[in-house]
Amino acid sequence: MQVNFAKSPDGLVPAVIQDAITSKVLMLGYMNQEALDKTLAEKKVTFFSRSKNRLWTKGEESGNFLHLVSAAIDCDQDTLLLKVHPVGPVCHTGADTCWNEENIDSTSFLHSLEQVIRDRRANPTEKSYTASLFAKGINKIAQKVGEEAVEVVIEAKDNNDELFLNESADLLFHYLILLQAKGFTLEDVISILKNRHK
Ligand code: AMP
Ligand code: ZN
Ligand code: ZN
Ligand code: ZN
Repeated sequence: MQVNFAKSPDGLVPAVIQDAITSKVLMLGYMNQEALDKTLAEKKVTFFSRSKNRLWTKGEESGNFLHLVSAAIDCDQDTLLLKVHPVGPVCHTGADTCWNEENIDSTSFLHSLEQVIRDRRANPTEKSYTASLFAKGINKIAQKVGEEAVEVVIEAKDNNDELFLNESADLLFHYLILLQAKGFTLEDVISILKNRHK
């Protein structure tokens, strides 16, 4: 990889830091040759900090390192793109990104929701609606999915977008519960869709 550090007077090039999984832009830092060499050698992102005026390994105090997945230079060799797996929040404010965004894509969120459902089933509490559904058994859960589907159909015919979207969320949630009651995951369904797509 050829980087033209000489192009900028201070010998620093900007490095865009992107999450390798979600594709979110996490932060931006500057690198000189030494910072880039250290980053590539140690597979942990090190910048040249203009405020500290020294090499700065992101996470050196907080432990929130950026593990390097790949590095690329842009079309005219003056800006780096580093894809990383971040450990914990990236910004020193505690936010996921330096632009105060959440770093979770919708698919990852659905997977974490599946995990919560799995946990409620394994460790039922009295207050948990999810646990109470599992206790009622698979027929009741399937019936619930049918009811929510009918509600989606009814709202689709009306003009209230908010009701339609809320019933859609109900349907998806109860469907995730039904999948688990049957011993499956969203991944099983997605892989069938992927195969059909080929
Ligand atoms: P860390 O490198 O995460 O151990 O943080 C050490 C110090 O670097 C913090 O106290 C901040 O001054 C600074 N810092 C950490 N993360 C960022 C960031 N994403 N952008 C700018 N400065 C940061
Ligand atoms: Zn460029
Ligand atoms: Zn920040
Ligand atoms: Zn509903």
